[in-house]
Amino acid sequence: MNKSKKIKNRKTPISNNAKKSQSDTDTDTATKPGTTAFKMFKSQTSIYSIGFLLLCLFFFINSGSSIKFTKPLKTKLDYNYPPENMTNGSSKNLSALFFENGTQVPKVMYVPQVSQADKLDYQAINIITGRDIKDVDIKSGSLLSPLLVARPVGSEAHSKVNSFLSSKLKEYGMEVTYDNFTESTVVGKKEFSNIIATSKNLGSAGIGKRLVLCAHYDSKILKTGDFVGATDSSVPVAIILSAVQMLSEIGVDLSPNSVQVLFFDGEEAFKDWTSKDSLYGSRHLASKMDSLKDPSLSSLGYNITQLEMIDLFLLLDLIGASNPSFYNINPASSNPTTSSIQDNSYSLLAKIEADLYDLGFLKKKFLNPFNSFSPFGKIDDDHRPFAERNVPILHIISTPFPKVWHTLDDNAENLDQYTVNHFTLLIRAFVLAFLDIHI
Ligand SMILES: [Zn+2]
Repeated sequence: MNKSKKIKNRKTPISNNAKKSQSDTDTDTATKPGTTAFKMFKSQTSIYSIGFLLLCLFFFINSGSSIKFTKPLKTKLDYNYPPENMTNGSSKNLSALFFENGTQVPKVMYVPQVSQADKLDYQAINIITGRDIKDVDIKSGSLLSPLLVARPVGSEAHSKVNSFLSSKLKEYGMEVTYDNFTESTVVGKKEFSNIIATSKNLGSAGIGKRLVLCAHYDSKILKTGDFVGATDSSVPVAIILSAVQMLSEIGVDLSPNSVQVLFFDGEEAFKDWTSKDSLYGSRHLASKMDSLKDPSLSSLGYNITQLEMIDLFLLLDLIGASNPSFYNINPASSNPTTSSIQDNSYSLLAKIEADLYDLGFLKKKFLNPFNSFSPFGKIDDDHRPFAERNVPILHIISTPFPKVWHTLDDNAENLDQYTVNHFTLLIRAFVLAFLDIHI
């Protein structure tokens, strides 16, 4: 994602004025004691002083305690949502039609409920996650280590990582396809490859829930050296692999529900983040999925686009540094169903984290409550091209960004094992809750 990490903690120079006001009052008290006029004057002065102090306090609270982004960052963050060309309040998802026994039935969007968490067998999830936690070991994890390399677009390491991800997803029983394309960039033509993996055996699916797990697998080019991007986004990718691994090990038939994994290419800007120099993969894929029918469903006669199939687009980013914090920063939607899905999904994730914490399976809580104020606003990332097409989003990105963000220090040495384990367990549990899978 984009965003300059620099933030400004602005202070309003109020202390001198406040001090002056106080000393003026003191002087008056000393020179004119005892008269009624003075008492009135003193009373008025006190009111003015108190009023002035309250005003100062207001400005202090609003400037001293809130974090302001620098201007370039703010312009990058405040992307237009909803886009102007979006028909007001329309829900493409709801208007999409299915054919069931020759009759058209609407695709009903699934709105998760927080109570969904109550059905989880946390003990069982903790056991299966504990057994596999070695796969996300920051030193030798089989799902993480192969990703902890510099892998800019076009590099040999990039294509190796692409092959590794594809082979793992296939190993876990997913149908893997690619969205390969060439595009002009600020540094010339580049080839990109998004990876799309979908669970098989949809059967008469279509009307079931589809959970889409997303992260980007390219790493940024830094002039100063090999940038690994361990939090950005090696760890998020490994966490998603781990969740799919769990599903394959449980061996549950997901039908009529389905899981899809989108590993985006070209998320990073080649130079400076702009709307054109960034999100190459997600912009291309969102546009494509908006027009293509779902291949597994079109063969069954269902006429619905791949985007319309998505019940929730869960995007993970900047995860793996110690003690991160997260807010509900999903893009606002004018569509009430989309809003409900987004809000409830964040609340569900927070509820699961709280439950796992209460049971002692997690030692910390990193998600801020749903309604807590986020000083970070919207953050531009791979979800934007999908949000602009009314896809419900759950954007899980640590804010503030990790200290190592976009520096050579964003590497394996600076990862925090606890945080990686924490999110591996949390996302596994969320996938089970969202899809209502019982183990
Ligand atoms: Zn980045």
